Amino acid sequence: MERIKQGHAVSKGIGLGRAFVYKRYIPLKKISYIEDKDVESAFARYHEILQKAHQEIDDIRQSLEQKGDDKAKIFTAHLDILHDIALEEMIEQYIKQEHFSIAYAVHEAFDMFIEIIGQVEDELIRERVADLKDVKNRVLRIEEGLPETNLSRLSEPSIIIADDLYPSDTATLDRTFVEALITEIGGVTSHTAIIAKSYEIPAILGIEGVMKTIEHGTFVIADAIKGELIIHPDAKTTDEYTIKKKEYKAKQTLLKTYLPLKPITQDLIKVEVTLNIGSASDEELSFVPYVDGVGLFRSEFLYMENDHLPTEDEQYHVYAKALKAFGEKPVILRTLDIGGDKELSYLTLPKEDNPFLGCRAIRLCFEHPEILKTQLRAALRASVYGNLWLMFPMVGSIDDIEKIHHAVGEAKASLDHENIMYSQNVKVGVMIEIPSLILIADHVAKMVDFASIGTNDLCQYLTAVDRLNPLVSSYYQSYSPAMFRIIKMAIDAFNKEHKPISVCGELGGDPIAAPILLGLGMRKISMAKSSVARIKKIITSHQMTTFSQVADHILKLTKEKDVIDYVQSVLKLED
Ligand code: PEP
Ligand code: MG
Repeated sequence: MERIKQGHAVSKGIGLGRAFVYKRYIPLKKISYIEDKDVESAFARYHEILQKAHQEIDDIRQSLEQKGDDKAKIFTAHLDILHDIALEEMIEQYIKQEHFSIAYAVHEAFDMFIEIIGQVEDELIRERVADLKDVKNRVLRIEEGLPETNLSRLSEPSIIIADDLYPSDTATLDRTFVEALITEIGGVTSHTAIIAKSYEIPAILGIEGVMKTIEHGTFVIADAIKGELIIHPDAKTTDEYTIKKKEYKAKQTLLKTYLPLKPITQDLIKVEVTLNIGSASDEELSFVPYVDGVGLFRSEFLYMENDHLPTEDEQYHVYAKALKAFGEKPVILRTLDIGGDKELSYLTLPKEDNPFLGCRAIRLCFEHPEILKTQLRAALRASVYGNLWLMFPMVGSIDDIEKIHHAVGEAKASLDHENIMYSQNVKVGVMIEIPSLILIADHVAKMVDFASIGTNDLCQYLTAVDRLNPLVSSYYQSYSPAMFRIIKMAIDAFNKEHKPISVCGELGGDPIAAPILLGLGMRKISMAKSSVARIKKIITSHQMTTFSQVADHILKLTKEKDVIDYVQSVLKLED
C-alpha cells in the first residue's frame, strides 16, 4: 500500500527508482577461536576472501580511472595494503598457530598495524590509518558474507536512503543512476544539501526513521518539491509522477535561458551573481561564463575527499586551476572550515560536547598553524594566475582578525624568503557568521578588505538552533525579521566604508531571501549552480526599487511566516 513520509526538500526535483538503503558497515570485534581440524580450511577461506576483496577494490579503481578521477590512486594504495606481506604473515600466524577465527585474526593484525602507524611522527605515514581501517572493514564484511554497499557503482536508477552521507560517500557517488538522496539527519544547510544542490540531485533530508521503514529494492518516488517520499506508489501515482518529472525538467530547461543574461534589474542596477563551489572540477568551472566570479570556494571539500592532508603542491594546483579559469573575476577562497559537522578521517579532533560552539574553522586552524600556513602558501602561490580573495570562516572578534593578518603576513614572509612570487593584490576578508562580529561591524569593515555573510551559520548562532538537528528545525527561522535586521547592520557598516560585502550562505540563492537582501543594499550574492538561472530571472524581471520597498516592509514585520507570505504575494514567485 502507498505510504508517504515527509521531510525537507533541500534540492528540488523529482526522482523515481529503487531504494538503495545505504548502511555503513561497522564490524564488531569478538574474541573467537577455531578447532585444530578447521585450521587449513579457514586459511583457504581467508585466501578466497582476499581474492574477493581484491576484485572489489580493483573494480572501483578501474571505474574511477576510466572517469579520469584522481581518487583511483586511493584504491591502488588499498590493494597494496590488502597484499602487504607483513600483514598477511601475521594473519597466517594467528590462524595457523594461535587458532584465531578469521575475523578475530584480521581484527588483531590490522589493529596492531593501525596502532603502530597511528603513533608514527611522519604525518603522511600516520594518515595511512584511514586506509588501513577501510581495507580491514572490507575484508571483515566479506567474511560476514555481506554485500558491498558502495555508492560508486549502482546498476539501476536508485534513490539513496541513508541516515547521513559523508563527503567520502558523495565524492564517489555514481551520478548516472542517482535519482534522489534521502537522509534521516540534516537540514537545508547541511553538507549533503549543499552537495545535492551543486550536483542538481533532488534531495529530501530529515525524514526520521526512514531507514527502518524502507527495504532495500523497494520502489519509491521522491518528490523533492513538496518534500515527500512515496513508498510503494501505485500505478496511477507512478504515471502522474513520470509526467511531473518530465514537466519539471522542461521547466528547468526553460529557466536555463536566463543563465547567460546579465544580472541587471529593470531600473538598470547591476548585481553581481557569483558561484559557490567545492572543487575546481570541470563541471563547476563550466559556469564561468554565467557568473561574476566565485563568492565561496569551500576549500574543506578538498580536504574531506582526500585520505590525507593535501600537500602545498596538491592545493596549489587546484587553486591555480580555479583562478586561471575565472581570470580577472574574483575567486573568494575560504580557508579550511572543519569541525562542527565536518570531520577529517585522518585528523583526530578533540571530543567536544558542543562542537558547533567549539574548536572549529579558524579556531582549529589557530590550533594547527602549520595546516593554515600550508594552505595560505598554496593559495598565495596560485594568486599569480588570477584575482584571489582570501576569506576566513567563524571569525568572532577583532583578536581573530589580528591573528589572521598575522598568519597571512607570516605565509607571505616565508614565500619572500624563498623568492617565490605571489600577487600583491590579494584581498583579505572575513565570513560574517557570528553575531558578535556584526555588532562591531563598523570596526571590522575598517580592518578587512571585504566580508561575506554566511547565513547558514549566522542563523544557527543567532537563533541558538543546531542547523542539523531535525528536532528543532522549525526553530531555525532563516527568513525571520531578526535575521534581516542584523544582516542590514552588516551591510550598512560595509557600504559606509565602501568595502565589498556579499552573502554566500543559502539565503543568497534563495528566491524569497535574495530580493530582500538586494533591497537591503546588498549588491553581490553567491549561490550554488542550480540557483543561478532562477535568481537571474528574479533580478532581471523586477526593479530594484521594488526590492527596496519589500525590504523596508519586512523589517517592520514580526514573524517569519509573514515575511514569506509578503514576499511571495508581492513578487509572485513560482515553485
Ligand atoms: C554559512 O555558514 O552560511 C556558510 C556559507 O558556510 P557553511 O555552510 O559551509 O558552514
Ligand atoms: Mg558556515
